[in-house]
Amino acid sequence: MRDEIRNLLRELPRMDDLLALPWTGEYERVLGRAAVRNAFAEAIGEVRSALREGSAASCDPGAIAERARRELEERIRPSLRRVLNATGVVVHTNLGRSRLAPSAVAAAGEAATCACNLEYDLGRGDRGHRNDHVEWLLRQTTGADAALAVNNNAAAVLLCLSALARGREVIVSRGEQVEIGGSFRIPDVLAYSGARQIEVGTTNRTRRSDYEAALTPDTAMILKVHPSNYRIVGFCESASREELAALARERDLILVEDLGSGLLVDPGVPELRGEPTVRECLEAGVDLVTFSGDKLLGGPQIGVVAGRSQLLDRLRRDPLLRAFRVDKMTLAAFEATLRLYLAGREGEIPALAALRVRPERLEERARRMAADLGPLLPGVEIRVLPCEDAVGGGAFPAVPLPGWCVALGAPGLSAGTLARRLREGEPPLLAGAEEDRIRVHLRSLFEEEDPLAEAALVAALRGDGGRD
Ligand SMILES: *Cc1c(COP(=O)(O)O)cnc(C)c1O
Repeated sequence: MRDEIRNLLRELPRMDDLLALPWTGEYERVLGRAAVRNAFAEAIGEVRSALREGSAASCDPGAIAERARRELEERIRPSLRRVLNATGVVVHTNLGRSRLAPSAVAAAGEAATCACNLEYDLGRGDRGHRNDHVEWLLRQTTGADAALAVNNNAAAVLLCLSALARGREVIVSRGEQVEIGGSFRIPDVLAYSGARQIEVGTTNRTRRSDYEAALTPDTAMILKVHPSNYRIVGFCESASREELAALARERDLILVEDLGSGLLVDPGVPELRGEPTVRECLEAGVDLVTFSGDKLLGGPQIGVVAGRSQLLDRLRRDPLLRAFRVDKMTLAAFEATLRLYLAGREGEIPALAALRVRPERLEERARRMAADLGPLLPGVEIRVLPCEDAVGGGAFPAVPLPGWCVALGAPGLSAGTLARRLREGEPPLLAGAEEDRIRVHLRSLFEEEDPLAEAALVAALRGDGGRD
């Protein structure tokens, strides 16, 4: 037996022979010679270990080369790349959240390619601050006295807690002890900041008196948290911003609200009511509001703290700020996005445009897509159906948006198989599924992307889009 294995091991191909295969050049040019060599070494290594363990494995050079080639093929395309979002979720965290407006893309490109006055004050001819490029715009668009941009909203919350409540107590309602997803959990962030969390109320009901009863000389802050992607409905109650603001003022505490999505204006969609804008929170007396730049606001990944300038000065002095500072491309894109709000042109921001698009327009696109696909996909059942879309990004979780989709199903092809073929296509397309059909939601696709989606569907349904 051992001799047999030894003989088999001797049959394994030699590295030099593998590297001399004619197809390796293409991969070497993109990935470098070392990566190609490593892929072969791994493929040989796998066969060698299998043989040593006594399992069956082919020593055929062709099979080993093919294994390496599959691995290299996976690596040759960019890992982070475009996908078609046909899920109907407008701000989809796993699909990169907001898509930027053209002016924001242009600004980011210029900041990336040219030298820029990122931290240079052109008026004074001296060192400046990167935050200055967006602070005035944030004050205009939110009504805040001052504002500070950091890497993301998680950083904004952590910075507030660390700079204003480290070593002291922060009161949070039990109904707002939420996990946002991606491991952002309010209790954990609080613990990490060095502040002590005091929970008050119950899951469904918390009143001003609950906060009041928990106050001690050590209390520094009341933290209000947007519950984002879930809702407590039915027998529930929470203290209003005005009540909490009054309490904070009376007792000399800081009221901070983690607003999550960061609406700057009313989205202007009849279904979307009830989410406060940043301005409304500040007007209700909240001292500091934190929010994301890439959710409903429709900009790049960023976090903002907006509110009273005296408190923001304390944040500016916290050493964490250095670790959370915003990159120049992001800052440029954010400035350009805010300028669209200032000019009343926020309808040009893709996230808002996708929320505002009228259902009739979505239906038209769905019908056109179905009409295009029909002749190309004989035997495939294609239907145009109303559907429910979602805002995403933790905003309006309980409010479905009326949308339209194209539902496709083919006999003998499960929705799972079809979804996998679509994921493996180029560009990959992500759609909804229901029973044995997949559903292509039009709202989360750009209209210009409809032809690409059609091509992806044709490839997947004809079977030449995947390996089955
Ligand atoms: C999304 C969200 C966060 C995290 O924001 P990021 O910008 O992703 O860091 C924090 N709090 C709430 C309430 C949120 O909705």
